[in-house]
Amino acid sequence: MRPLSYSRASTVDDALALVAHDPGSAFLAGGTTEVDLIRAGIATPDHLVDINDLPLAHIDDLPDGGLRIGALARMSDVARTPAVRERYPAISRALLLGASEQLRNMASMGGNLRQRTRCAYLRDGASPCNKREPGTGCAALDGFNRGHAILGTSEHCIAMHPSDVAVALAAFDAVIHTVSPDGERAVALDEFFLLPGTTPEREHALEDGELIVGIDVPGAPIARNSTYVKFRDRQSYEFALVSVAAALDVHDGVVADVRLALGGVGTKPWRARRAEAALIGGPADARAFRLAMAVELAEAVVRRHNAFKVELATRAAVRALMQVAT
Ligand SMILES: Cc1cc2nc3c(=O)[nH]c(=O)nc-3n(C[C@H](O)[C@H](O)[C@H](O)COP(=O)(O)OP(=O)(O)OC[C@H]3O[C@@H](n4cnc5c(N)ncnc54)[C@H](O)[C@@H]3O)c2cc1C
Ligand code: SF4
Repeated sequence: MRPLSYSRASTVDDALALVAHDPGSAFLAGGTTEVDLIRAGIATPDHLVDINDLPLAHIDDLPDGGLRIGALARMSDVARTPAVRERYPAISRALLLGASEQLRNMASMGGNLRQRTRCAYLRDGASPCNKREPGTGCAALDGFNRGHAILGTSEHCIAMHPSDVAVALAAFDAVIHTVSPDGERAVALDEFFLLPGTTPEREHALEDGELIVGIDVPGAPIARNSTYVKFRDRQSYEFALVSVAAALDVHDGVVADVRLALGGVGTKPWRARRAEAALIGGPADARAFRLAMAVELAEAVVRRHNAFKVELATRAAVRALMQVAT
């Protein structure tokens, strides 16, 4: 048994002060990730600061037609909000295809972005794992790596980023807003998540004690014509083997604009910028979509059990793009 104390913050300042007071503290939102990690001995906070009373659950319009989603907005509430469903169907769909109804009712958007990889070697608490214990090695490199990443990997870690909604947010250039004792800042989602490189223990750009307060999704008319496709081993309660957020703007059969982001294949939510560049100005057909994915996946590094992800991601992208091409 490890002692674990608990307090409940009533304001953002209160939450920051409570965490700053004890460096071994962690924020607690829905608890659907944090409690699992504590039980597994992977997270070892000695104090939990419950942030559920903070006024951060709103979803508000931004002047440019975008949305600000509060960090404590629940996944199910965001998914069902009419403005999200109409303006960003890919975000709504990515949320609804994640976890289970019960989990989505508890789980917050801020907590979702901070969830940790599902790599079994991280979670078993015993295998060599550079993310859990830097310098010990990576059991997944030569182990069972069917679910692991093929893009953005390093010799130190090949763990797949697990969030679905982060993939859709990546497609629409979302920006994460935070506060800490040093002040407020805004971090582009693409820079929020870090590649493993030689420091896989660092997964995101947050400093200790920094609180996510909201996520801005800029206005993007193209997002109204978007979708999210997810392939997984079973139809509910399961993380992606591969997933795709896609939005398309086609004029006279030619791609005028496109947004494409991939899940299940990257060590972070993967914005497929090379595929996007290959698609602009070309035909909106399955052949062009497949060729663009070949460009994006040219640098994929596959391992013993996950080579299938190249073809599966290609098929998922073609399916998603065809859905929004018509
Ligand atoms: C069985 C199961 C299946 C799942 N399937 C999926 C899936 O298919 N797709 C998917 O995307 N997700 C899936 N999830 C993950 C789920 O979406 C996350 O557990 C959830 O979103 C975390 O939110 P939470 O509010 O419960 O976070 P918590 O568990 O409370 O916190 C998670 C982490 O975030 C930190 N944190 C929380 N809020 C903030 C904040 N505002 N600022 C800074 N740090 C913060 C906490 O300190 C903690 O480290 C699944 C989870 C489970 C248990
Ligand atoms: S892939 Fe990453 S998380 Fe998994 S064992 Fe290797 S270092 Fe650890």
